[in-house]
Amino acid sequence: MDFKELEEALVYKKKNGFDLLSTEELEEVWSFAEEYKAYLDASKTEREAVCESERIALANGFEKYQSGKKYKTGDKIYKINRDKSIMLVRFGKKDISEGVNIAAAHIDSPRLDLKPCPVYESADMAFFKTHYYGGIKKYQWTTIPLSLHGVVVKADGERVTVTVGEEDTDPIFYITDLLPHLAADQMQKTISTAIPAESLNVLIGSQKIESEDVKDRVKLYALSLLNEKYGICEADFISAELTLVPAAKARDIGFDRSLIAAYGHDDRVCAYPALKALIDTVPVRTSIVCLTDKEETGSDGNTGLNSNYLFDFITSLATTHGADALDVFEKSACLSADVNAAFDPDYAEVYEKNNASLINCGTVLTKYTGARGKSSTSDASAEFVGKIRRIFDNNGVIWQMAELGKTDVGGGGTVAKYVANRNIDTIDLGVAVLSMHAPVEAVAKIDIYETYKAICAFFKDYE
Ligand code: MN
Ligand code: MN
Repeated sequence: MDFKELEEALVYKKKNGFDLLSTEELEEVWSFAEEYKAYLDASKTEREAVCESERIALANGFEKYQSGKKYKTGDKIYKINRDKSIMLVRFGKKDISEGVNIAAAHIDSPRLDLKPCPVYESADMAFFKTHYYGGIKKYQWTTIPLSLHGVVVKADGERVTVTVGEEDTDPIFYITDLLPHLAADQMQKTISTAIPAESLNVLIGSQKIESEDVKDRVKLYALSLLNEKYGICEADFISAELTLVPAAKARDIGFDRSLIAAYGHDDRVCAYPALKALIDTVPVRTSIVCLTDKEETGSDGNTGLNSNYLFDFITSLATTHGADALDVFEKSACLSADVNAAFDPDYAEVYEKNNASLINCGTVLTKYTGARGKSSTSDASAEFVGKIRRIFDNNGVIWQMAELGKTDVGGGGTVAKYVANRNIDTIDLGVAVLSMHAPVEAVAKIDIYETYKAICAFFKDYE
């Protein structure tokens, strides 16, 4: 008996993409990564990701959805929800009554939002108070260059867009930290208490207005500059969504450039492949990409997937085309395209290696997320996983199955349960990320490309 053959036939091993891909395929991997980096740099907030996705969709023949219009095979449409989420549809060969294929990814990322009354002055410096958004390790956000993004709605209703800190000639913003010489007490604290949220205050200036008749002259000078440039006053921050994100652009990592360091891979690293897959695939069933907001804060609110917006949209499409919406949901399938925690050898103790995702081993299927005994998750059925893996294998997708860390260590959630709760078969699929939720995260280029290939295969073949 040839035991080598026996091993090949019986043993499941994760395979590294560098052992599988041809030179030509690697060329495609590298060029896809360049497109993705450009998308990332243009999409630092969910609003910017919606704009950039709409721009790409329009350039590829998608049209704005018209309520009540009947669409036919091949039609490509999109609908934007409150400028913070976007749904794109490509009508398939099969009637919508046969169900739809959904890829859902989120385009919000952890960051520092400004408080509603953010501006103050202290010790002759002006600052913004922040309120962090999503799960962050606060110490990571001090002493790094930050850029300001968002919108301000003025008292008269005019909306002003603000972006400062992305151009090389722009100023950046900055949160101070204590020098080691005076940090003896701070260094004794735990990482979670050493930097309290109320000290994540952003330095925005130190120059004063000339008059000595007023107090808080540094704050007033900063306000006067904002008024000059944007026509806003302090009260306008009350109706604003301004956020601080790392000012860095996406950059390659390593002598071989095989990985990418960037802000917000979670989850634009799945959003972009999903968008591209919809553009590049002729789908068997009507296929939908939903790029959603609010995942990082629990998916609540009318731009998050714990609301009805996606499901109401599918219901409208079904009804217009003479199908029963509940029947459509039951027959539909969804890839909840979100990231997994890549095995990190420096912190091996939190991973269970047989069930951890590995860098360069392809897109990651995650059967369930949750914590403490699969609490608060959708657990994809064996039948559904079986169907998905067959499609991936038939299309030469490099994929791996993983959990998120050791069972007792922690856990996490995605939008999967909100989709599955609507009676739609759902499984998580996405890219393995190193340093997830850090200001700058890392992913491997092969894994991004394989995620794209996986979503293409799903749209093309799942029925
Ligand atoms: Mn995510
Ligand atoms: Mn996340």
